[in-house]
Amino acid sequence: MSARRVAIAKTNDVREGEMKSFDVGEDKILISKIDGEFYAIGAVCPHYGADLADGVLSGERVVCPWHHAAYNAKTGDLEEPPSLDAVPRYDLEIEGDDLVLLLPEEMVQSRKPDMVKGDPQGDNRTFVIIGAGSAGNAAAQTLREDGFKGRVVMITRENRLPYDRPQLSKEYLEGKSDEDALPLRSKGFYAKYDIEVMLETEVTAVDLANKTLFLAPGDKLQYDSLLLAPGAVPRRLDVPGADLINVFTLRSFEDSTAIVQAAEHASKAVIIGGGFIGIETAYSLSQRNLSVTVVTGESVPFEGIFGKEIGQMFQKMHEENRVEFKLNSRVAKIEGDKTVEAVVLEGGERIQADLVVVGIGVKPATEFLRGIDLLSDGSLKVDEYFRAGADVYAAGDVATFPEHYSGRELRIEHWRTAQQQGRIAAHNMAGKKVPYRSIPFFWTTQGDLYFRYVGHATQWDDIIVHGDVSSRVFIAFYVSNNRVVAAAGNNHEKEMAAIEELMRLGKMPSAEELRNHSVDLVALLKK
Ligand code: NAP
Repeated sequence: MSARRVAIAKTNDVREGEMKSFDVGEDKILISKIDGEFYAIGAVCPHYGADLADGVLSGERVVCPWHHAAYNAKTGDLEEPPSLDAVPRYDLEIEGDDLVLLLPEEMVQSRKPDMVKGDPQGDNRTFVIIGAGSAGNAAAQTLREDGFKGRVVMITRENRLPYDRPQLSKEYLEGKSDEDALPLRSKGFYAKYDIEVMLETEVTAVDLANKTLFLAPGDKLQYDSLLLAPGAVPRRLDVPGADLINVFTLRSFEDSTAIVQAAEHASKAVIIGGGFIGIETAYSLSQRNLSVTVVTGESVPFEGIFGKEIGQMFQKMHEENRVEFKLNSRVAKIEGDKTVEAVVLEGGERIQADLVVVGIGVKPATEFLRGIDLLSDGSLKVDEYFRAGADVYAAGDVATFPEHYSGRELRIEHWRTAQQQGRIAAHNMAGKKVPYRSIPFFWTTQGDLYFRYVGHATQWDDIIVHGDVSSRVFIAFYVSNNRVVAAAGNNHEKEMAAIEELMRLGKMPSAEELRNHSVDLVALLKK
């Protein structure tokens, strides 16, 4: 294939340890300089389209500023989700002091990782994945990336291929994206790589001793290796009226679509629960011009996760969008004649509602695992390889795992962490020995807040704030035993990407260093 030669920059435009993106027509190319050599890869993150140059270069790793997908700066290979794809790599030559790219006539922004197809003649094993969410979908792809050629079967109760669940409470619910934007992969992708997706299929029991799954309505499926990635189910509110029409929980595409349809004929929404579903849904419905009231038992939303000051920042932003809060409040009952009409609080206050969304947390979807040892929260204990037992792995919302950075056993209910875990479990199913060494991360987007969180803090002794929370430009470091266990930040994308890398590489400054000092976190990465 013929290549175009394009002089893109001068050699002194990109310094050692730096990366920059350059426009070539409609496309963007990322040039980095590592150990005296220049490298060129695609600069647009295949996940949601960020310019990778706004992230950080950490050794050979490029970390996206938006949701921390990571790529190899030399090859463009995918190193961390939430992206499923790699970015293209381009040949580059030096002519005098020009950096000259050798570009194909037709440019692409992303490329699939190298994957094998199935070859049951060559490998007669069957690997089954229960669940087609974030962890399950990532695992299926990873098995093929790792060269596994046996049968890959992914089972889901839902009637659609894996989709981008984070959008359900954000862009999709708000009306900024539609059904077409949700699938993670096309039908053709699963067909091409011989990944069998069994839709509308329920696993009713697992016989570990005989490596057999029982499927409704009476079928059986043998496996050689099993990944349990069934996710979680929303908790139901145990009050009178919780089953009235227009009282919803939000987990699936169907749930979100039903809320969108109800919102078209509603004017007053009450959200029960001040967690991620509750607060993201409150914002999305306020953007549909519903009047929204959030009922939460906490004194500020997100208090238990981020602390009071940051919780108040979220509250203020939502109040500016006309969302009302009923704090320190519990629901006594929901009233209505077939369809919801009001939510009544324990103190007797009655809030009119023609739509109610209950977001009071989730529990691991492990009820079908009768006879298998579960922890008290219904999850499975796994080791650092995500192994729950002989030829059984678990990942995502159902897995309690040893998290190396904090040294604690954790269960984390976030999209990108589930993807990381699905990939690790799949590597180990495929015969590699890969421990979990990633750092947890999640994001939430609400109004003008582009909030990112790295690490995981269930409790803390102190929160060190750099910047100003009330002006929404800050990084908060959560400290336990003089160690930073997590960081939350708004409007500091580059630094948040750097923090993930500093934690991963064991270079995170101590609490003492961060207290009363401004620290250049991005520069620290280069040391
Ligand atoms: P969550 O984030 O765990 O929040 C649950 C909220 O419900 C808490 O505020 C909790 O506070 C409250 N609550 C619990 N029992 C209650 C009751 N009986 N009455 C009123 N409030 C009650 O769970 P979620 O919002 O339901 O989200 C579900 C899952 O989706 C979570 O795993 C979450 O991480 C995930 N998710 C993540 C994102 C993101 O990362 N951006 C977005 C959406 C969903 P108290 O217990 O103090 O009352």
